[in-house]
Amino acid sequence: MSRVYNFSAGPAVLPEEVLKSAAEDMMDYKGCGMSVMEMSHRSKMFDDIIKTAEADIRELYNIPDNYKVLFLQGGASQQFTAVPMNLCKNGVADYIITGQWAKKAYQEASRYIKANAIASSEDKTFSYIPDCSDLPVSDDADYVYICENNTIYGTKYKTLPNTKGKILVSDVSSCFLSEPIDVTKYGVVYGGVQKNVGPAGLVISIIREDLITDEVMDKTPTMLKWKTQADADSLYNTPNCWSIYICGLVFKWLKANGGLEKMKALNEEKAAVLYDFLDSSNLFKGTVAKEDRSLMNVPFITGDKDKDALFVAEAKKAGLENLKGHRSVGGMRASIYNAMPKAGVEKLVEFMADFEKKNS
Ligand SMILES: *Cc1c(COP(=O)(O)O)cnc(C)c1O
Repeated sequence: MSRVYNFSAGPAVLPEEVLKSAAEDMMDYKGCGMSVMEMSHRSKMFDDIIKTAEADIRELYNIPDNYKVLFLQGGASQQFTAVPMNLCKNGVADYIITGQWAKKAYQEASRYIKANAIASSEDKTFSYIPDCSDLPVSDDADYVYICENNTIYGTKYKTLPNTKGKILVSDVSSCFLSEPIDVTKYGVVYGGVQKNVGPAGLVISIIREDLITDEVMDKTPTMLKWKTQADADSLYNTPNCWSIYICGLVFKWLKANGGLEKMKALNEEKAAVLYDFLDSSNLFKGTVAKEDRSLMNVPFITGDKDKDALFVAEAKKAGLENLKGHRSVGGMRASIYNAMPKAGVEKLVEFMADFEKKNS
């Protein structure tokens, strides 16, 4: 068996301990004679899995009792629709556009409500986070929406926007559980798990209880209504049992490794290895404003498309996979999520230094 260092943006690297544990349980989960993929979502066994997973994420994120944790299907993209439908009171919301995912969420909301783009960093290809201290928040906005870590462009909010009392909704897909957050600052915080937490096909939404009501937009599909899912403890229909199970193992792994304070320190250490190199390199350079740099997704370029392509190909031969930038921006991107060991980032930097010597 040989494993590569996988810098994919998502689906992405998972902790080896988690993969091994899942492999061990594959034929016979805890003596029940079947795998988690084969068991009823209504069984006692699975009830333990989902309840334990919820308790563990509550502990990791310090989620207050007046917030629900929902395990939903449809990915983060389906929440782009669910958010405006469930939060629609005045039918107005404000969006801050810091990348493609925020833009997609905004465009989707625009199909149902009056969505205002109150700030954007598109003027400089989303290479920074706009000043959000005094935005023209609409008086009648039902919520203010952000994408907190921009997976494609590699920026992250270091301070949350001043929403002037409006509910904050945040997509944290690519920084999910990468550091502690203050859940009470959000009305809704959600993430597709396939970036930093688990296998694709599950989105976890953490929602303040008073925002889960029957007063949703007319004709909101039953499945998209948060109340349907909350009343059924995420078991209205068959959930993504497998992903919930693996996420549960990842939560245990995070707890065993010191929780989110520790994870944040480790992530800062790892990202510094790469950013320090980029800042000193004569060939490679980072593409975003330093103060807005993400700890999770690190885009960089040489400035020469052929060299970029050569780099990606040679890196792959050296066991450093998935370094190609998003198809919309080109260049390179290293996603260095929780499960990427520091040794992987060090190996990448060594390889970059060596490539620089040979190619400049
Ligand atoms: C990947 C990603 C999405 C889309 O996730 P899906 O689960 O594929 O719908 C949304 N937002 C962000 C920030 C992402 O990184």
